[in-house]
Amino acid sequence: MSFKDFQFHPTINAGIVACGYTTPTPIQMNGIPPILAGRDILGLAQTGTGKTAAFVLPLLQRLLDGPRKKVRALIVAPTRELAEQIHENIGMMGKETGLRSVVIYGGVGKGLQVKTLRAGVEIVVACPGRLLDLLNDKALSLNTVEVLVLDEADHMFDKGFLPDIRRIIRLLPVKRQSLVFSATMPAEIRHLAEEILRNPATVQIAHNQPVAAISHVLFQVATAQKTSLLKRIIHEQEMTSALVFTRTKHKAKSLAMHLEKAGFSAASLQGNLSQQKRQQALDGFRDGTYKILVATDIAARGIDVLGISHVINYDVPDTAETYTHRTGRTGRAERSGQALTFAGQDDGKMIALIERNLGRKMARETTPVFTAAEAQEHVEAKRENNTRRLPAVKKAGTSGRNQKERSRASSFDFGMRKSGQR
Ligand code: AMP
Repeated sequence: MSFKDFQFHPTINAGIVACGYTTPTPIQMNGIPPILAGRDILGLAQTGTGKTAAFVLPLLQRLLDGPRKKVRALIVAPTRELAEQIHENIGMMGKETGLRSVVIYGGVGKGLQVKTLRAGVEIVVACPGRLLDLLNDKALSLNTVEVLVLDEADHMFDKGFLPDIRRIIRLLPVKRQSLVFSATMPAEIRHLAEEILRNPATVQIAHNQPVAAISHVLFQVATAQKTSLLKRIIHEQEMTSALVFTRTKHKAKSLAMHLEKAGFSAASLQGNLSQQKRQQALDGFRDGTYKILVATDIAARGIDVLGISHVINYDVPDTAETYTHRTGRTGRAERSGQALTFAGQDDGKMIALIERNLGRKMARETTPVFTAAEAQEHVEAKRENNTRRLPAVKKAGTSGRNQKERSRASSFDFGMRKSGQR
């Protein structure tokens, strides 16, 4: 099957060529025909499958005919980064169509968003909070919306956005086409989908399965040795770019600073940054200024950066589904990638859940023995870090705990064999 089979307008085909797409991905093959036919869709697809183009391309085709400068399509996304990315994708795919989109999210001034809306757009890509805010200000109306897209619906739920979504939906015309995309289908999303969709076509692509082109590797490592291990891996592996996940905002920031100091090009992406700083970090990672981006899950939701060679779980994620989302950042659209996970002795249960979801065991790598200098460097970095955040009395205690963890480092293995094979 080729994109020609969809018989898109030549201006849209030009956009597909500009994006460098030659063959539709499975979600595009299965999703585009029913969307073009005007049907509602429940798309069960994780990020990295090409789902954005699966809804943007038929959307552009529909909007080519009909009035301009009216809000005819509303795309709702859970994070600013994802909204920004969808907006950019529309810009690329729709460049020749003359159709306009605006992206709306909080954390930045309203002025430019309102001005763009006033100038007239056909597509609004929005996060729920700011959209409601602008609706309240009467900066736009949703009376003329023909198509609603809810992207990453499961994350809307995770982030507590479902009441906002229901409020937004009440403001839409009853007669419309609705597309709901979600990587997972918890009961709350199933109920929401039932409320929103009319006789939907269900398009399911490898539901909840991590992307196949990724190799999954597990290191058993004590907390105190994670940074040394990370630096060793960055030195030794062929790495075009690495996305490193930590559990906390503070850790993302301090680890990125530590890596910078050690001579690596690194930045952090976490919720304590202003929107401008977040965008700078993301743009720098995208254009190669930063080889390493250290991020928290919320900040990294939905980000699409081509050619990420490694996703490194510096901290094991809280759920098996988060593992799928994190590792979906590499191996995107049939590129191969490496997912490396640093697991401590308390992570055995979560690793077992992740492996059940994965359908196989991760390859076990033996954690290298670190030189005294590497270990010392880490202790110093930790001390420096603690000096910044803790009162003096706590410092000695923390470093004592590190010593204990270090000495335990090679003694736990939560029932897994050790091997160097992949
Ligand atoms: P998405 O799942 O929409 O975030 O897309 C993941 C990545 O796949 C993005 O970098 C897209 O540009 C890329 N992509 C989407 N469709 C195709 C296609 N048909 N061929 C190659 N790459 C694609």
